[in-house]
Amino acid sequence: MPAEFHLPFSFEDLSLKEYQNRRNFSRSPEPPAREQHSTEGNIYSIQEHHASRLHWDLRLEKDGVLLSWALPKEPPREPGIRRLAVRTENHPLDYAFFEGEIPAGGYGAGTVRVWDRGHYYQLESKPGTEIIFRIEGEKLSGIYCLIKMKKDEKNWLFFKKSTSV
Ligand code: MN
Repeated sequence: MPAEFHLPFSFEDLSLKEYQNRRNFSRSPEPPAREQHSTEGNIYSIQEHHASRLHWDLRLEKDGVLLSWALPKEPPREPGIRRLAVRTENHPLDYAFFEGEIPAGGYGAGTVRVWDRGHYYQLESKPGTEIIFRIEGEKLSGIYCLIKMKKDEKNWLFFKKSTSV
């Protein structure tokens, strides 16, 4: 994760400017920045990204872009495991199922593979600090929480909620 990183600090900032600025699209096969909407409007995906450090990128469609978090460890399939999720720049919707090789020297250089895909259904949210949602994916399914850590600009926790509540 680059040290200098200008994040969209709220859920309401749906700009793709940071995505655009970080990439050279004449060299990278990644999709260009453009806003669009899926028919359903609630795409969920996780990509396994073999960059300088392996991580998993969580994507949630919102109003024409993908809100994004990078997880340094594998996403939890069961309750009781809390994972750090670092907020990263919004991605275009076309990115949700992108797979390919980002060339050496470029931002995020390495292999991107889809790890999970499906839909999500928001249940509750406190804008910018908390979202509780049901994931219906192939690997992950059930109720998940994303909670922003207090006094922290970009670190969140991602975990599966116990269903026995
Ligand atoms: Mn990544």
